[in-house]
Amino acid sequence: LIQLYAPLNILGMAYREIKQALTDMERMFSLMREDAEIEDAPDAVPLATRSATVEFAGVDFGYDAKRQILHGVDFRIPAGQTVAVVGSSGAGKSTLSKLLYRFYDVGGGVIRINGADVRTLTQASLRAHIGIVPQDTVLFNDTIYYNIAYGRPDATREEVMEAARSASILHFIESLPDKWDTTVGERGLKLSGGEKQRVAIARTILKNPPILIFDEATSALDSQTEKAIQAELAQISASRTTLIIAHRLSTIIDADEILVMEHGRVVERGPHRELLAQEGVYAKMWALQLSEEEA
Ligand code: ADP
Ligand code: MG
Repeated sequence: LIQLYAPLNILGMAYREIKQALTDMERMFSLMREDAEIEDAPDAVPLATRSATVEFAGVDFGYDAKRQILHGVDFRIPAGQTVAVVGSSGAGKSTLSKLLYRFYDVGGGVIRINGADVRTLTQASLRAHIGIVPQDTVLFNDTIYYNIAYGRPDATREEVMEAARSASILHFIESLPDKWDTTVGERGLKLSGGEKQRVAIARTILKNPPILIFDEATSALDSQTEKAIQAELAQISASRTTLIIAHRLSTIIDADEILVMEHGRVVERGPHRELLAQEGVYAKMWALQLSEEEA
């Protein structure tokens, strides 16, 4: 009986692991509120690097054939550098991050990482290399511990706590009656927008990927908390390839390049100072934000 049981047990374990991996994938997609339409190419190869150069070359895209969203978007983020994207709502900024994560495939042009078209890479390896703090974080109906540890399931408890501290959410968690065991999500404790953002930031800090995407990652935080976290984010993104979609322009003045988008096109680009000197769209946005902050 034992002889029979042992292989069944191993099978059971493998089954559970596979099932868990699938559950996590499904959860991830429902979390990002995207459909799992993309499939690996039959000869897809894994991406394996700690130093990633990201390139968008002539990228066209539309969610449906009737309406094109992106028009010939070109930019390059050399390994370790930061490119920021600004522009009004609906310009196509979040769409860039979804294409890099490959929730969708480009309609025209190509997205490359270290020269390889992302369509030739396995999705699992691609996504293992990218950490996204999305615009709207949806949490799993699970403990707050699970929600942060999800960034790297083999992390130690100390590492999970350290990530929470870096994301300025540790004190909040420890003030809850059930602390780390508190169930959050739609069926648990409802966190505020800012608390959810900090959970997502902690998860990404823990994951520690070579490519970071921050999509208005601190937009729901008060300015004091934002400042505290901004310092942490600046530190982790210093040596990583970072795409930052900015809400407040003050958070991106140090970016290596800033792209200004309008209606799916890059209309201005350059570092902060050069863009100000151009006295164009960016300079107007900057002046507007300054006057808003003063008001
Ligand atoms: P931004 O982040 O700059 O505000 P988005 O990239 O989110 O802009 O959206 C660009 C355009 O694409 C918008 O017009 C938006 O309505 C549309 N869009 C975004 N997501 C979807 C989707 N899943 N299906 C169809 N249209 C979408
Ligand atoms: Mg957006």
